[in-house]
Amino acid sequence: MQRLAIISVHGCPYVQAGEKDAGGMNIYVLETAKRLAARGLQVDVFTRRHDPKDEQVTQLAPGARVVHLDAGPASPAKEGVYDLLPEFCQRLSAFTSEEGIRYDAVSSHYWLSGLVGLHLQRVWGVPHVTSFHTMAEIKRRARPGEKDVPQRADREREVATVSDMVVAWTTHEKEAIVNYYGAAADNVAIIPPGVDTNRFRPMDQAECRRKLGIGDERVLLYVGRLERLKGVDILLKAMQQLEHPSGLKLLILGGNMGSPEMTRLKGIARDLDIEKKVQFLGSVPHTDLPVYYNAADVCVLPSYYESFGLAALEAAACGKPVVASRVGGLPSVVLDGRTGYLIAWRCPGPFVERLDLLLTNDRMRRGMGAAAREHAQTLTWDATADRLLDAFNSAVARAVASGMYRHPVAPEEPCLTSIG
Ligand code: UDP
Repeated sequence: MQRLAIISVHGCPYVQAGEKDAGGMNIYVLETAKRLAARGLQVDVFTRRHDPKDEQVTQLAPGARVVHLDAGPASPAKEGVYDLLPEFCQRLSAFTSEEGIRYDAVSSHYWLSGLVGLHLQRVWGVPHVTSFHTMAEIKRRARPGEKDVPQRADREREVATVSDMVVAWTTHEKEAIVNYYGAAADNVAIIPPGVDTNRFRPMDQAECRRKLGIGDERVLLYVGRLERLKGVDILLKAMQQLEHPSGLKLLILGGNMGSPEMTRLKGIARDLDIEKKVQFLGSVPHTDLPVYYNAADVCVLPSYYESFGLAALEAAACGKPVVASRVGGLPSVVLDGRTGYLIAWRCPGPFVERLDLLLTNDRMRRGMGAAAREHAQTLTWDATADRLLDAFNSAVARAVASGMYRHPVAPEEPCLTSIG
């Protein structure tokens, strides 16, 4: 196995995570592409051009390139991308024909890219390994009212059952893929994402606070995109009930300044009369985040659903306890009572109780922070990349053994039509 095509239609690794439609998936693609290339693969990440100024081909790291393809107007948004997939596939074919490149396997991210992956699996005759990142069916059950492209659940079922392999992050996600979408359990591998424990590491808290202009108050931190599913309103309500003798501050990192969701959350903070205690900082470059995690006392992730929760893992790697909802993949990141607390209810009361305990008990906070760091060291991007490489190699070996390798099963045109 030498060449890998990664399809990440709306998740360009260069786009700032924490903004609308850019988050854990962009970080995942960035970190794994670099590390797979460092293990000797030639990696090309195909993504939609998000900015008219993007070069078509850029070198992400030695052995890893990002190829920006024109399909619709340049934008990082995922809205409307479903209808642009046939054009994306045509541009991708044109690029690979022009360069005369053949890939040994395809890796796709999110159902939209999964459909492109299915198309390439057919027309290139190579194995396709997909990851969902989130699934319509899980989101619908986690928070009724979540809106999606109407075709999404059916098309996800197709991706889950036709791809050669699905990579899930956790047992919980694997069970969902098998039970809701009918994927064969043998075709679903569990490979958790990771964290760069060299960059995300414990640092001097006082020094980090000085850099950020933070005083002696206790600091709670939320890091993530701003959308309803993240449950930030629960955290704001908890904040209203919390107090500390040295003062208390909540930093909210992520979200586009002035976006409807940020405006809505600021309105809630105003109504709760906690405006002065809450700071919305918008999205912050991933490379700057270690200072914020280290300046904080406790991190909070009050999500209705979280397929994994990279932000919780990054906080843990910086030696901070995390209080998070007991949903999705978070129980594999936060060990309840050891590295933080898991909250089973989507209401502020239980968050208040656990946060109060941690904010007032320095020894407990430090002890849980140290345990969190230790746990995070078992979940690194290097381990993820090693296991992904094994998964791709075994998918290729299986395809070769079955005689299906490089035997396209359909001409290009019908596949493109079936995407649209
Ligand atoms: N993030 C960031 N800057 C921000 C907010 C978030 O770089 O201002 C990153 C964060 O560090 C994490 C990712 O975005 O790596 C969010 O991933 P997570 O799994 O927590 O949530 P998702 O976006 O997948 O729902």
